[in-house]
Amino acid sequence: MTPRAPIAPYAPAMTNEQHRRATTALVIGGGVGGPVAALALRKAGIDAQVFEAYRPGTGSKGGPLGLASNGLNALSVVGADADLAAAGMPTPRMVISSGTGKVLGTIDTDPSLPGRVTLPRGRISELLQARAEADGVPITYGKRFEGAVDTGRSVIARFDDRTTAEADILIGADGIRSAVRGVIDPSVKPRYTGLVGLGGYIDGPAGIEPTGGDFRMIFGRRAFFGYLSDGAQTGWFANMPYRRLEDADLRNTTFDQWMSRMRAAFADDAGPAMTILDHVTPDGFIPPSPLEDLPHVPVWSKGRIVLLGDAAHATSPSSGQGASLAAESAVELAKCLRDLPVDQAFQAYESRRRARVERVIAEAARTNQSKAAGPVAARFRDAFMPFFMSRFTTPEKTAWQYAHTIEW
Ligand SMILES: Cc1cc2nc3c(=O)[nH]c(=O)nc-3n(C[C@H](O)[C@H](O)[C@H](O)COP(=O)(O)OP(=O)(O)OC[C@H]3O[C@@H](n4cnc5c(N)ncnc54)[C@H](O)[C@@H]3O)c2cc1C
Repeated sequence: MTPRAPIAPYAPAMTNEQHRRATTALVIGGGVGGPVAALALRKAGIDAQVFEAYRPGTGSKGGPLGLASNGLNALSVVGADADLAAAGMPTPRMVISSGTGKVLGTIDTDPSLPGRVTLPRGRISELLQARAEADGVPITYGKRFEGAVDTGRSVIARFDDRTTAEADILIGADGIRSAVRGVIDPSVKPRYTGLVGLGGYIDGPAGIEPTGGDFRMIFGRRAFFGYLSDGAQTGWFANMPYRRLEDADLRNTTFDQWMSRMRAAFADDAGPAMTILDHVTPDGFIPPSPLEDLPHVPVWSKGRIVLLGDAAHATSPSSGQGASLAAESAVELAKCLRDLPVDQAFQAYESRRRARVERVIAEAARTNQSKAAGPVAARFRDAFMPFFMSRFTTPEKTAWQYAHTIEW
């Protein structure tokens, strides 16, 4: 770490230096994409260090997050798939029902692929950080990135504690509100989906039978509910439609008020939402957040700075793919940097990733509309979804998404 150098305004300079391969990298963000990128970069012979804004143990545990087959495939390239699979609840099947209890469809993991697992969002980051550190990746916690200068020969990053760090390239894996993206294109802002996400984990069965490998989801009359349980732990989430959302509403609504809103929303639906909600305590309750996405980030890289994961292609949680796509992008970027000089590597990475991730984001946006449907649209959805699901969620039709693999 060098003492703080005077930071000039960001001015990308394309020089011949950029046509050399990178040997060192600064990775901003230790969530999902950051640790995976650092592991993959080391595998590619590039020294990477990670800087994470939060200190270990200070983040929220998080609600249930499903890691899909394609995400596990990407994690297997850096040897992190087994840790996550072992820590998660196997959930190879998603069962989708309506608020009347009618099963609208199922999505089964193709048995030839790694089976989906579900675990708390925060736990995924902890496990990936542990794997990266065990493999020799230095992670500095409690260091918030604030700005960067591309000198043409290197990038100098500046942090909130007035220190700097320098390397050949800088990777922004700092999430949907990426400060690194702000350096290369401050105009991009997340889009609110019209849904607020709530959820958490409950110790024990929460009054329901184990779901036996199913992640069950209900398009309720007024809101969307998901749950899974192995008897020892029960995970749940709710998506509540709010056309407009004021920050003050999120800040000022108490735990008890959210519980009343959810009880009112799910009271008339078939399924165990009300039973599970009876077991929710403030400890295991993840603060509500507006669900957002980034349908199209026009600039993914500039000079020696590049984005990955939610910073470049945030999908709303309805896809169940955000973490998996972040892992895929991390591996693909490292592979491109292994084989190509910096400028060509960034171009190749974007051309291999953009169409795929934007397709997932667009599909999730369509699902969000169904979750926030009014009564007429909801009747139409419940009538026609079985037809669509039986044709379009077969292993063959979903292979583009779940069977995606990156040959290292
Ligand atoms: C409610 C909810 C449910 C979800 N469910 C699923 C699901 O079922 N399946 C799925 O695949 N995805 C799901 N996602 C999406 C998934 O969490 C993200 O897509 C994934 O975490 C993206 O990984 P990332 O590494 O790009 O960003 P993140 O995981 O957000 O990591 C970014 C990291 O950067 C750090 N950071 C931020 N700013 C700075 C800074 N200035 N300096 C240093 N560090 C910084 C943050 O602290 C964080 O650790 C869900 C998301 C939400 C909100």
